[in-house]
Amino acid sequence: FENESIHVDDYAETELISDAFNRMLTRVKAVDDSREEFVSNVSHELKTPLASMKVLADSLNMNPDAPKEMYQEFMQDISEEIDRENSIISDLLSLVKMDRKASDIHMEETNINELLEKIMKRLRPIAEKQHVQLILDSFRPVTAEVDETKLTLAFSNIIENAIKYNKPDGGWVRTSMNADRKYFYVTISDSGIGIPEDSIDHIFERFYRVDKSHSREIGGTGLGLAITKRAIVLHRGAIRVTSKAGEGTTFSIRIPLVYVA
Ligand code: ADP
Repeated sequence: FENESIHVDDYAETELISDAFNRMLTRVKAVDDSREEFVSNVSHELKTPLASMKVLADSLNMNPDAPKEMYQEFMQDISEEIDRENSIISDLLSLVKMDRKASDIHMEETNINELLEKIMKRLRPIAEKQHVQLILDSFRPVTAEVDETKLTLAFSNIIENAIKYNKPDGGWVRTSMNADRKYFYVTISDSGIGIPEDSIDHIFERFYRVDKSHSREIGGTGLGLAITKRAIVLHRGAIRVTSKAGEGTTFSIRIPLVYVA
């Protein structure tokens, strides 16, 4: 009997190891698949502006007698495609930087009120151009141990979106902050176009855009929120979004006051 029971245990252990191995293989394959998908998305996104530039340049080349206006219009289009290529590349670089080890973050005691005020100051001209009112609720001073550059990028992306995806005839973006003994909380609400329910779960994915053609028109790479989420997670924080199509969106962020590595 004893022998038999040892035999059964051995078998069970082999099963366990083989199960764990299979699970690991599945995970490795998933990482591999998502990397492959990412590379293929990157190539596609980088090729799109290039393809447009090629068509525009070829048409000008084939029409040496094209009127000056056409020449100017096409050159303007080429210039915009170059800007687009540039934004994709800089967003990709930001994302790659965030993807490095957590040890690459530079945590410093930072005044969060000042950090938010600086972002507002930089974005105010963009908001005014789109008739969007930027509101920063006043709150008591909060200092926290954060990576200022990464967090600035994270909040800027959300506020820029809140301006970009606002109503065409203007609206508002409200930023509020709160804190308790462990965390600080930032809420950014807008009166914008909102996010359809079936898109909410996807907006943090790389290159995901609710409306590709509309987003392209108003600019954007689809990488902003992926960068934001990564930055917040690096801070051991959390981000949540609620939205109602046609009414507006609210992003709620929670970040520990003290970073625990
Ligand atoms: P993009 O560069 O296209 O703005 P993001 O990653 O920043 O990419 O956002 C992903 C998508 O989520 C956007 O294309 C847009 O469709 C949607 N989105 C993000 N923020 C908002 C918002 N405040 N209101 C409505 N839609 C939003």
